[in-house]
Amino acid sequence: MIIGVPKEIKNNENRVGLTPAGTMELVRNGHTVFVQHTAGVQSGFTDEAYIDAGAMILPTIEDVYHTAQMIIKVKEPIEQEYKLIKEDQLVFTYFHFASSEPLTEAMIKSKSVCVSYETVEEADRSLPLLTPMSEVAGRMSIQQGAKYLEKPLKGIGILLGGVPGVAPAKVIVLGGGVVGTQAAKMAAGMGADVTILDISMKRLRYLDDVMPANVKTEFSNEYNIRKHLSTADLIIGGVLIPGAKAPKLITRDMLKDMRPGTVLVDVAVDQGGCFETTKPTTHQDPIYIIDDVVHYSVANMPGAVPYTSTLALTNVTLPYAVQLANKGWKKACTDNLPLKKGLNVINGDVVYPAISEAFNLPL
Ligand code: NAD
Repeated sequence: MIIGVPKEIKNNENRVGLTPAGTMELVRNGHTVFVQHTAGVQSGFTDEAYIDAGAMILPTIEDVYHTAQMIIKVKEPIEQEYKLIKEDQLVFTYFHFASSEPLTEAMIKSKSVCVSYETVEEADRSLPLLTPMSEVAGRMSIQQGAKYLEKPLKGIGILLGGVPGVAPAKVIVLGGGVVGTQAAKMAAGMGADVTILDISMKRLRYLDDVMPANVKTEFSNEYNIRKHLSTADLIIGGVLIPGAKAPKLITRDMLKDMRPGTVLVDVAVDQGGCFETTKPTTHQDPIYIIDDVVHYSVANMPGAVPYTSTLALTNVTLPYAVQLANKGWKKACTDNLPLKKGLNVINGDVVYPAISEAFNLPL
């Protein structure tokens, strides 16, 4: 198969969908790999490294989309890319369709085959291609939250861990999945007073067992969330209902119960956000303020740490990419049920229930 790796063009997205190691693996399996000029540079991979691994370099993004039967990338295509995607082209990337009707319509119109990283799902309901990016974003949410809690950056002016004789900051983590667990671990490691809220008792039991003593667990409901608003310094949003829009757990009216300088980090922004006041931001302009509450809601957090993220992502995507390339999407998805769950749009038809529900489209 002819595989194309375009350079990401979303704001401050520095990851790349395939590394030289992945290139070598695909070439070894008999495929041809075209990589756009400088696609890997921001992740530490030069064009020469790809050439040494067996790839050929193409000068423009148009060349890559025009040449390839299968595209491997990182972020959902943005408007400039819509017209480049062609009928029957297999596109393997994050799409997050449920949060974008224009993208969904564009991919339906393209008649391409869209396999979404984020809906590939194992039998135990885990999401193997979302996990490493959630690990990065979860850990990073505390790094960012700690930064914006500083006074010059509009925060309340509190140190996460406090100091001897001064109480630490209070961190509330909504959702105790991958993002929430990594966020809680980082915040706890820095000495904060952490509470994780989730609706899964099984998950809360597990977290209660493995987390250190400065992490408490609580069942997630509106009552319990409201109770924390006036004392929380940093609130992390990490809830997920797979493939669907995130539930709005913090509404606009709740902001008035928070203290000025409270920081909200909505990691779930890529699924529409779990705070009513969330709107997607970029690494260039990551925060905005509503009712004196600082909102951080960068939709591609891992893009800021590409040296870590590209390796973490491609470690898990490559085995699926090799199957798709070796067998073609039909056979690969018949043989591998978790991969089949990644099928979202096939030749103009939506095939993933949560997307059809989100936009009232036929299945
Ligand atoms: P996950 O499935 O591991 O965890 C989600 C958790 O949310 C589950 O434990 C679930 O029980 C819980 N949940 C569902 N409804 C809830 C509610 N009402 N109250 C409290 N908890 C609730 O998912 P994850 O991998 O941790 O991902 C979380 C979100 O972060 C997703 O939307 C994902 O796309 C997003 N994400 C964003 C970025 C970014 O750069 N912004 C990066 C990676 C992941």
